[in-house]
Amino acid sequence: MKILISNDDGYQAPGIVALYEALKGLADVEVVAPEHNNSAKSNALTLHSPLYVHRASNGFRYVNGTPADCVHIALTGLLGYRPDLVVSGINNGANMGDDTIYSGTVGAAMEGYLFGIPAIAFSQTERGWAHLDVAGQKAAELVRHLLPTLSSGDDAGRRPAPWLLNVNIPCRPAEQIRGFKVARLGRRHAAEQVITQTNPRGETMYWIGSAGPAKDDAEGTDFHATAQGFASITPLQVDLTDHERLAYWVPTAAAMGAGTP
Ligand code: MN
Repeated sequence: MKILISNDDGYQAPGIVALYEALKGLADVEVVAPEHNNSAKSNALTLHSPLYVHRASNGFRYVNGTPADCVHIALTGLLGYRPDLVVSGINNGANMGDDTIYSGTVGAAMEGYLFGIPAIAFSQTERGWAHLDVAGQKAAELVRHLLPTLSSGDDAGRRPAPWLLNVNIPCRPAEQIRGFKVARLGRRHAAEQVITQTNPRGETMYWIGSAGPAKDDAEGTDFHATAQGFASITPLQVDLTDHERLAYWVPTAAAMGAGTP
């Protein structure tokens, strides 16, 4: 089994080192991660400047690009093989609810998923790396459980359908984590106000505000599960189509006319 690890906090972040240490005994593990912090880069790809790959003294490879760049490069030529699993994280802070739209941690995993490879994004629910060793153990527990299901396919060589999991692990001592719980995404309120400051040249600078507090943290959500001490597992899909409203928009399209052939 081969696992590709990436993240969005950068190749030197404690979270990716912990993830590598936790998984290296389970499979052949390689790390390709951003050189710098690329949090909130979602699925962004770098199309207008060259990317370079370097190898750090610990063997990790790092790229002057985004999380999705790292996985994209790895899967389209750098590795020279197809990993059985793509794992991202462990992120410094929660990726719950609306966070998943912005998250580079999820973006790295999603890039693997888009290439047809099962993928998991791991995050800790709070920033600061408290109990990171526990998060690493939990990640390894889940990966160890899933690895046997990642067989190379049926007799015809068809691969099983890939999946994408978003996992948030509470920052708690091991004995205070109650296990894993499957949960849907909650919702957050809109982000806090932008923060303005004046730079030494008298120009106004704008800093994006913090993510909003939870708006939907009802039972069944990732917010609720992690607050109760569970590591939440949310299966994600990529199709953004509003299937329920497809019919609603048909008259609008019709009213626009058939157009000229
Ligand atoms: Mn991050």
